[in-house]
Amino acid sequence: MMAVVVFDLDDTLYDELTYVRSGFRAVAQFLQRSWNLPAEPCYQRLVMRLAGGRGSIFDDVLQEFGVYSRKNVRQCLSVYRRHQPEICLFPAAEDCLRWLAPFPLYIVTDGNKLVQHNKIIALGLKERVRHCYITHRYGIKNAKPSPYCFWKICEREQVDPGQVIYVADNPRKDFVGIKPLGFKTVRILQGQYKDLVLEERFEARWRIQSLTGLTPEFLQQVLENEP
Ligand SMILES: [Mg+2]
Repeated sequence: MMAVVVFDLDDTLYDELTYVRSGFRAVAQFLQRSWNLPAEPCYQRLVMRLAGGRGSIFDDVLQEFGVYSRKNVRQCLSVYRRHQPEICLFPAAEDCLRWLAPFPLYIVTDGNKLVQHNKIIALGLKERVRHCYITHRYGIKNAKPSPYCFWKICEREQVDPGQVIYVADNPRKDFVGIKPLGFKTVRILQGQYKDLVLEERFEARWRIQSLTGLTPEFLQQVLENEP
C-alpha cells in the first residue's frame, strides 16, 4: 500500500521562531530607514518583547521608541509579512524529504497566505513536494481542524484516508478533525506545544520526538495499523 505523506510547516519542518526573528530583523531595518532608529537595539527590543507574548509587540516597541501611530504599526506588520525570510529546514527534515522523495509528499499549513507562501519559497519546498496547501486560500472555514485540504489530497492521489499520514506538532488543531475520518496522525514533540497534553480526541495516534523518528520501518507500521 502506497503512503501519501503530508507535513505541517511551522515547527514541523523548520523552527518557527527563526521566522519571527528574521521578520524582526526586517522590521528593525525598516525602523532605521524610516526614523533613523538604531537597527540593532530595535531588533534586540523586539526579541525581548516576544517573551512577553505575541500580541501588540509592534505597538509596544514603537511606543518605547517614540514613533507610535496606528499607521506605523500597520507598516511594521506589512514589512514583517512581506519580508523574504532567512530560514532553513531542520536537518532531520532535510534528511526526511530526501529519503521520502519517491513518495507523494504534501504540505498542509494554516496562516497568512503571503507569509506561508514566502516561507515555502525560502525553504525550497515548492520543488520538493507535489503541492503546498495553504488552507486560508480556501477560506477561513477550511483551516485546520477542517479536513477540507486533506480530502483534496485524497482526491488528487485517488487514495483513502488510511493511506494519508499527517505529521504535525499542534494537538489543538492538527489531528482532531482528521483522525475520526481515518487519516493517520503522527505528532512530532517539538516547538511550543511539545508538552501540551489534551484529551484523547485531540491526540495523534502516534508520537515521535523529532523527524529522525520518521523511519521507513515506522512509516510501514503506521500504514499497517488502524488509525
Ligand atoms: Mg505547526
